[in-house]
Amino acid sequence: MQTIDQFNFAGKKAFVRVDFNVPLDEQFNITDDNRIRAALPTLKKILADGGSVIIGSHLGRPKKNPDPKASLKVVVDHVSKLLGVPVQFAEDCQKADAQAAALKPGEALLLENLRFYAEEEGKPRGLAEDASDEEKAAAKKVIKASQKEFTAKLASYADCYVNDAFGTAHRAHASTALIADYFDVDHKMFGYLMNKEVIAVEKIMTDTARPFTAIMGGSKVSSKIEIIENLLSKVDNLIIAGGMTYTFVKAQGGKIGTSICEDDKLDLALDIVKKAKSLGVNLVMAVDAKIADAFSNDAKTAFVNVNEIPDNMMGLDIGPKTEAIFADVIKNSKTILWNGPTGVFEFENFSHGSQAVGEAIVEATKLGAFSLVGGGDSVACVNKFGLADGVSYVSTGGGALLEAIEGKILPGIAAIKK
Ligand code: AMP
Repeated sequence: MQTIDQFNFAGKKAFVRVDFNVPLDEQFNITDDNRIRAALPTLKKILADGGSVIIGSHLGRPKKNPDPKASLKVVVDHVSKLLGVPVQFAEDCQKADAQAAALKPGEALLLENLRFYAEEEGKPRGLAEDASDEEKAAAKKVIKASQKEFTAKLASYADCYVNDAFGTAHRAHASTALIADYFDVDHKMFGYLMNKEVIAVEKIMTDTARPFTAIMGGSKVSSKIEIIENLLSKVDNLIIAGGMTYTFVKAQGGKIGTSICEDDKLDLALDIVKKAKSLGVNLVMAVDAKIADAFSNDAKTAFVNVNEIPDNMMGLDIGPKTEAIFADVIKNSKTILWNGPTGVFEFENFSHGSQAVGEAIVEATKLGAFSLVGGGDSVACVNKFGLADGVSYVSTGGGALLEAIEGKILPGIAAIKK
């Protein structure tokens, strides 16, 4: 497989798929530029080699073309500043032939939001809500045909393709996967960010140092079930935390008061317990909880055994005994995956458990463990507690990371390897 370090971009035009899907405020100011910064090493390497870049990205969820509220024009100045070269802008990603052709070594061109065109995602737009299955199928056929032209146009701008958008690697979109087919295997590669993500996932999923501990938190078991099932055949310890705890506790006959619970998943929870046992996985669950009389930071609180929660109270975080148990397991691990908080960490009074887990992971990492934190809220946790520098890797890809952990093959990765 080609690597970005080995490739000499001198005199070459590179189509670089990045993730500039940054959050904006109401005046269209960028409120967090981490995603742009994450792509800089790749863009800078190509420009420094004497190549030029055609940068493609999406922003938001536009449903028409053009959609001024989702224009990437708002990032041009900031990208220019960070990159240190003026970035040109193509107002229409399908009509950038002349601008791409005129690019000289060291120059950069940003294409307008690729998702202005339905072809980027390959999903028909404007179908009536009551469209029949036949109408849906016909519309899909039309868009798939025009998606080929759309993709071929993007590919025609460049001599090589670099994918640095891990956040969309789980999507088989035109610019994230299909475009790769237009380039030889030695002219397509991962960017630096994507490469780091792929290596981190491999360290967790295939190249695993043991013991391997996964900490699954968050609100619901239903949204994590595929991950939990896939992890059961891989981990030594599975720590279950967060809101999903109470589905397990109730399933095993405990009293959970008004805690969050998925009553239709009680059997599933018991199945997971059984499966863990049969696979020899150490399933670690909370023994105590910090309970509250309302879903509020200012609620009245107490610590109780996790299966003895009074009727009018709810569990919003783990208790101190559980913190100690989790920390002990974590500190004795060599590979750690953390996805999801142990409680309602957004409330100061229920964030202690998540912070304790984060700190234990940092300690384990100091002792030589490889730790990967990923999936929206756990990333917010490590950032909130200032622990990001103490873990081995913080993934930038929410959905993409979760699908990789579910054991799925990500189209964006497969397309480069093909
Ligand atoms: P997820 O998106 O599934 O990872 O869930 C993250 C959310 O789970 C966070 O917003 C937490 O506030 C929430 N959460 C964690 N523990 C609990 C709990 N015990 N009760 C209700 N919500 C919880």
